[in-house]
Amino acid sequence: MAAAAVQPLLDIRGLTVEFAVEGGGSLRAVDGVSLQLAAGGTLGLVGESGCGKTVTAMSIPRLVPQPPGRIVGGEIRLQGKELLRLPIRELRQIRGRDIGVIFQEPMTALSPLRRIGDQLAEVVLLHRPVSRREALGLGLEWLEKVGIPDPRQRMEAFPFELSGGMRQRVMIAMAMMLQPCLVIADEPTTALDVTIQAQILDLMRAIRNREAGLLLITHDMGVIWEMCERMAVMYASRLVECGSVKEIFAEPLHPYTIGLMRSIPALHDGKGRLAHIPGQVPSLSALPPGCAFADRCEHAMPICRRERPELLGNVNGRQVACHLHRG
Ligand code: SF4
Repeated sequence: MAAAAVQPLLDIRGLTVEFAVEGGGSLRAVDGVSLQLAAGGTLGLVGESGCGKTVTAMSIPRLVPQPPGRIVGGEIRLQGKELLRLPIRELRQIRGRDIGVIFQEPMTALSPLRRIGDQLAEVVLLHRPVSRREALGLGLEWLEKVGIPDPRQRMEAFPFELSGGMRQRVMIAMAMMLQPCLVIADEPTTALDVTIQAQILDLMRAIRNREAGLLLITHDMGVIWEMCERMAVMYASRLVECGSVKEIFAEPLHPYTIGLMRSIPALHDGKGRLAHIPGQVPSLSALPPGCAFADRCEHAMPICRRERPELLGNVNGRQVACHLHRG
């Protein structure tokens, strides 16, 4: 008898998101994206800004502003539950309790007018039947856990009284304190200086619930290497390559992924310069009929300008959308 397939923690199928544009019409910010993340797994979603990675991630807790955004197709299942069709009341229960979100800019999530302790306690009170005193106690415990000095004093502080690195630690506490099964981190270290970046990545590794899945959004291949087991590369609203981080770093297949690899400082040309991918990302409102990367690709063939390459998988679980790798 065949073994039953293990259900992934997060299963995104054919996600398609459009944004209304001024003057009428719409553009497709995410086009048919499918991703799976196992419980305890770490998946990095990488690409240049504007490629659709943040919109993909924010569609999971349905935090894409509607309008102008609209999820026009696909399914998102978390532990088997279809999130896109869930009534908003149920979804609010899931946000915070089952899905923790760490934003690039903590002030997106923190209210500037309320004390840190009150904001932490509120997250607990929304989801757990505990007293305010117990909620404050859990908040304090988590400030200690994320390495905030003088945590009692910081409970009374307003966000503007903390440094950027401290605010990011508070937001990590807020996202993780209820031990969600899925943590989404959107460029969690981009706004911080290099030393603090390393500390925040260490912290996320140290306090992550090993049963939880981590979806990490970044443009930084170094962060992917440090934090993730699997990765997915996005370009102009579509996935172009998916697979294990080790395999992709050892042998990237898609020409865009190869270009991203060349942009990693450790792999630069030895003369102190970072390689960069020539040309520009095409506008999402005027994508060419074939491969969106064709104008920047040194391997472009006539078929690339006619036919859009589908994302095809091989036996090793690697998926690539490129006419160079068709079966
Ligand atoms: Fe280059 Fe063609 Fe592959 Fe696109 S499909 S990445 S243009 S070789």
